[in-house]
Amino acid sequence: MNPVDIITKKKENKELNRDEIEYMVNGYINGDVENYQMSALLMAININGMTFDETYNLTDVMLNSGDHFDFSDVKGPIVDKHSTGGVGDKTTIALAPIVASLGVKFPKMSGRGLGHTGGTIDKLESISGFKVDISEERFRHNLKKIGVVIASQTKNLVPADKKLYSLRDVTGTVDSIPLIASSIMSKKLASGADIISLDIKVGSGAFMKNIDDARLLAKTMIEIGKRYNKRVVASLTDMSTPLGYAIGNSLEVKEAIKMVRGEINNDFSELVIYFASHIVSSALNVSLEMANDMVNESIKSLKAFDKMLDLVRSQDGDIGYLFDLNKFHKAKNIIEIKSDIEGYIDGIDAYTVGKVACNLGAGRKRLGDRIDYSVGIELLKKRGEYVNKGDVLFRLHSNYDDNHEYIKDLLKAYSYTKEKKEHKLVLDTIM
Ligand code: URA
Repeated sequence: MNPVDIITKKKENKELNRDEIEYMVNGYINGDVENYQMSALLMAININGMTFDETYNLTDVMLNSGDHFDFSDVKGPIVDKHSTGGVGDKTTIALAPIVASLGVKFPKMSGRGLGHTGGTIDKLESISGFKVDISEERFRHNLKKIGVVIASQTKNLVPADKKLYSLRDVTGTVDSIPLIASSIMSKKLASGADIISLDIKVGSGAFMKNIDDARLLAKTMIEIGKRYNKRVVASLTDMSTPLGYAIGNSLEVKEAIKMVRGEINNDFSELVIYFASHIVSSALNVSLEMANDMVNESIKSLKAFDKMLDLVRSQDGDIGYLFDLNKFHKAKNIIEIKSDIEGYIDGIDAYTVGKVACNLGAGRKRLGDRIDYSVGIELLKKRGEYVNKGDVLFRLHSNYDDNHEYIKDLLKAYSYTKEKKEHKLVLDTIM
């Protein structure tokens, strides 16, 4: 076989067979296929797409590139949840202790930030001492003991995705349905869960900009899951506006802690409760209504908060941060920006907000950049709220002295209406 023939075949929009996909992926891992050849193939896939069989074969080849976790010795239903990435999306940090407090086992391998979107692993590292790189033994031990772990992907879990993902990030080939589906599903299948809950983000702050693409992505991932006898549920959720009040690592973790303590009532808490209730209902075989009551009770009784303390303690984090939010690093400048417009907020463009947060230092511009945990944006008014002239719209947390451009960009992200409009958070659920 020859890489050029395979690239040409895909360029001509012909279907690749399993052997050809295997040859390219395995060859790329062991160095027989060059970066530029894999880049060309990824671009051909990005432009021409893949049939379902090709996407399935790609997933399976990636899945078999490394270890598979087997949690059959862990008692209780094992659930994994994955978001395709967004702005202000700290859902996993709040959801994990809530579902674990109700007996669901939640072994979560998460990623770092990517482009304008934040990553759970970076966010958790804003708690002093919190270790995200833990051994497989420790991962298993914590899962059995407290029912929840949030760690970074172990070295040999789908190594093909690690290598392909970094290449996609720098070759403009992230936003491809077959490439996203195979990347996410290979990791979910390798991490040994019985139930996979997917949050497919749609809108300017997401990789899927429109609902039809998001629906196709959801269906593709569900069909892949079926081939491995996994229960996959996908919800399409809005990412045209940032989720919650906080964007930026420490700010988001603080919001997640408050949510678990029952102190937040916004679109973020709504989404956490939505996913937690669906996960508990399906894992424990109880009605959705009952699951919803259980979730709310766990928050109210602080059972979920106790589980969050267990999680942070078991990964060497300083639990003092959970009791005293002032312990988190603060930015040098915290600037309040007031509105000079009156009306209902119709939208706050998620992509713009994510980009500004990233430029402030909350994300990386280059591989290996250091994250600034203290910076970000706090939205004081959300979409659908009425603002009067002089009301504070947002607070910018920055370690730079000149923030004019950031403030200008953020103000441009707002749109207003005279009439209040309804906006849906969960756009569709597909099983
Ligand atoms: N998240 C992933 O893990 N992979 C993708 O391709 C996109 C989002």
